[in-house]
Amino acid sequence: MKRRNFLGLMGAAGVTATLATKAQAAGNVHFEGYPGSKGVLFDATRCIGCRKCEVGCNEVNNLPAPEKPFDDLTVLDATRRTQNEAYTVVNKFEPAGGPPVFSKIQCMHCLEPSCASACFVAAFSKDPSGAVTYDESVCVGCRYCMVACPFEIPTYTYNDPITPKVVKCDMCDANIKAGRITVPGCVAKCPKEALVFGERGELIKIARNRIEAAPDKYVDHIYGEREMGGTSWLYLSGVPFSQIGLREDLGVQSGPELTSGALSVVAMVPALWPLLLAGVYGVTRRTDKINTKEKAEAVAKAIATTQEKAKADLKTAMDRAQADKEATVKREVAKALEEAAKAAPPDEKEEEGA
Ligand code: SF4
Ligand code: SF4
Ligand code: SF4
Repeated sequence: MKRRNFLGLMGAAGVTATLATKAQAAGNVHFEGYPGSKGVLFDATRCIGCRKCEVGCNEVNNLPAPEKPFDDLTVLDATRRTQNEAYTVVNKFEPAGGPPVFSKIQCMHCLEPSCASACFVAAFSKDPSGAVTYDESVCVGCRYCMVACPFEIPTYTYNDPITPKVVKCDMCDANIKAGRITVPGCVAKCPKEALVFGERGELIKIARNRIEAAPDKYVDHIYGEREMGGTSWLYLSGVPFSQIGLREDLGVQSGPELTSGALSVVAMVPALWPLLLAGVYGVTRRTDKINTKEKAEAVAKAIATTQEKAKADLKTAMDRAQADKEATVKREVAKALEEAAKAAPPDEKEEEGA
């Protein structure tokens, strides 16, 4: 499926009926990450909010110059999010009574990425290097990845009417693999070594050592070691993570684990699949050369196939539910009669026996 068009989805549509099962099976097994895979440790106690990491990212990714120059630190007065032209941003936080604390955000490179599990054409994947990468050529523009990401990271190039795409930090994977750089651009530029690039396992050891060596300086927790099943980007902080913009309510279950149940339920609703497929088709703005008739036929075929399978599944489930219901009613009636017989006065029992 290398064509950047909706037919990519159609290839996937043939297997949508079995997707739920597969996702559930995959989701029930926690993935510990590829051995030796890389990550980055960000230490908020070292960050001075200089935005040099943003410069590094901008340079290695050939992004346009920002509206306000990187040395204008007034931008830190507002909390920012990643954007099409800023794969990473640094924000300033002012925990009550303390000095300002700075925190950098970018894709967390989850071990079991929600963006990847939400993407039915597999445009996202977890690379053995540790990076969660995106293949623009198969993306249909549905933007489910954006909805699925618990860290609200991927953005969409709405301003590009011809070939819009999802954008996010790729841990500089493409540049590193091509030999253009050896460490991510943001890491290379940091003057305070607030960022360390290395094997995730080693980063966890470094983080633990820092906490042990200065327990008063750090919160005794490595954010990302277990959150959402674990992430390749890890955080240390001297203040609670929620005070530097990180969600502490995510739990340790990965996105695929959390959604596997919901996915299997969705497969049971016959009306939803056509809507889903048609909706995706409606929102996709990819303008390629694929023949309209070919697309329409493929859509109709996929809808019919999926609808048939979903109807059959629903009927089986309803039959089973009906049988269960009848058996339960029978059992409860028998039980009630038995209890009534036991509770009846002796003369009634004799009459019954006579
Ligand atoms: S942070 Fe979001 S975009 Fe990045 S890997 Fe995790 S789910 Fe995907
Ligand atoms: S790893 Fe690369 S793409 Fe990601 S924030 Fe750093 S410089 Fe940007
Ligand atoms: S370059 Fe380093 S110190 Fe400066 S803002 Fe980025 S992470 Fe913080």
